[in-house]
Amino acid sequence: MSTSGDSPSIFSLIVAREIPATIIAETDTVIAFEDIAPKAPVHVLVVPKTEKYRNVVELAAGDPALLAEVVALASHIADERAGGEFRLVFNTGEAAGQTVFHVHAHVLAGDLGEGSLA
Ligand code: 5GP
Repeated sequence: MSTSGDSPSIFSLIVAREIPATIIAETDTVIAFEDIAPKAPVHVLVVPKTEKYRNVVELAAGDPALLAEVVALASHIADERAGGEFRLVFNTGEAAGQTVFHVHAHVLAGDLGEGSLA
């Protein structure tokens, strides 16, 4: 699945409750929900509600406080589900596997396998 820059993104539709998702946490600015195709025992996406930023580089430059909120919510989820130990992945660009161009963090935890970069 991909988005071409047209609004709304698939994740904005989840924020708006226009498509279903298993939402597990939410603040005014960030939402977390289960990945539809989990690649680890814990696989949660943490997503800024705005789709202004296509990737983590844009987010870090444009709103570092919002990036910090993404990391804080990811950490909170990992505390609750995986003893605070987790992998945080931001695929950036098509060649790196990014398919949804609305910045999102993958929170991966549980049995990830030795050396796996999921
Ligand atoms: P990317 O490849 O862009 O880093 O990650 C996109 C992620 O979004 C993938 O892991 C994919 O499984 C997930 N995803 C795509 N569409 C949906 C959807 O409609 N609902 C949910 N919950 N996850 C989705």
